[in-house]
Amino acid sequence: MRFLPLILIVIIAALAGVFLATSGNKANSGPFSGERAFAHVASLVGLGPRHPGSEAIAGAREYITGQLQQAGWHTSLQEFEEDTPRGRMSFVNIRARFPPGNGGEIDWKRGGGLLLLCSHYDTKLIEGVKFDGANDGGSSSGVLLELAGVLRANPDIARRVEMVFFDGEEAFVDFTEVDGLFGSRHYAKFWRSAPVEEKPEAAFLLDLVGDARLRLDPPSDSPRELLRELYGAAEAVGERGIFGLHPTPITDDHVPLNAAGIPALDVIDAAYISRGNWHTASDNLGSVRSQSLEKIGRVMLELLARRFGD
Ligand SMILES: [Zn+2]
Repeated sequence: MRFLPLILIVIIAALAGVFLATSGNKANSGPFSGERAFAHVASLVGLGPRHPGSEAIAGAREYITGQLQQAGWHTSLQEFEEDTPRGRMSFVNIRARFPPGNGGEIDWKRGGGLLLLCSHYDTKLIEGVKFDGANDGGSSSGVLLELAGVLRANPDIARRVEMVFFDGEEAFVDFTEVDGLFGSRHYAKFWRSAPVEEKPEAAFLLDLVGDARLRLDPPSDSPRELLRELYGAAEAVGERGIFGLHPTPITDDHVPLNAAGIPALDVIDAAYISRGNWHTASDNLGSVRSQSLEKIGRVMLELLARRFGD
C-alpha cells in the first residue's frame, strides 16, 4: 500500500507528459486545416470552368461570399465592364472585411492600416478544354476561405485584413497592357489616387499554392521587406525550405497593386508554370494536396500573428 501513491504519481506524471506533448503538437500544427481548405477548392472546381461572365463563376461568387459571411466577414462586390480581345465583358471582384467591434460601419473607401490578402477566382478560358483551375484560381481561393474561418477566432487580427478575390486575372489571349489582370487593374486604380495614409499598407497575393510539389518562389523584383517577412514566418513554422526567389519578374495581380503604391508580394509556385500541368486539363482536383494548402496556410497565419499580434 505504501507504494501505491508513488505508482499513482508516476502514472499521473506520465499522463501529464502525454497530455503536454499532445497539446504542444496541436499548438505547433495550428488551427489552419488543409483538409477544410481542400474542401473549398473541391466546391469551386465542382461548379465547372469559372471563366469571366460564366454561370459557374457566378456560382463561385455565391459560394465565396456565402462562406465569408458564415465566418462573420462582410463582403462588397466590385462590378465593372472592360473591353477584351473577346469583346466587352463584365467582371466582379469580391472584397471582404471583418466588421469593427463597436458596431460601426465598414468604410470600403479607406484602407489605412490594412493588409491585403489576395487571390484570383476566375479560370482561364481554353477552347476545347474543360479547364478546372484547381491549382490555378482554386487553391489560393480555398486557402483564403479557410484563413477567413480561422481568423474569426482572432478578430483583432481579422480587422486588419482585407481579402480580395480578383476576377479576370487570366488573359483571353495573352498578357498585355489590355488583356489579363482585369480585376486587379480595376481594383488598384481606386487606391492609386488615394492619400498614402489611406492606402492599404501592403499586399500578399497567393497564386498556384496547391500542387503536390509545392515550391514558392516570389518574383525577383519583390519588395524586400515583404520577402523577409514571408521567409521569417516560414522559418518560424518550419517551412522555410519550400520558399526561394524566382530569377525574373512575373506578370500577376501584384503588379497593378505595386504600381498603385501598395507594396505587394506574389507568393507563387513559379516552377509549376514550366512543369507541364499549367493551363492544361491536368490542373484538376487530383493534382491538389491538402498538405500543400496547409503549409502555406500555416505560414500566412504566422505572418499575420507576427505583424499584428501582441
Ligand atoms: Zn492561370
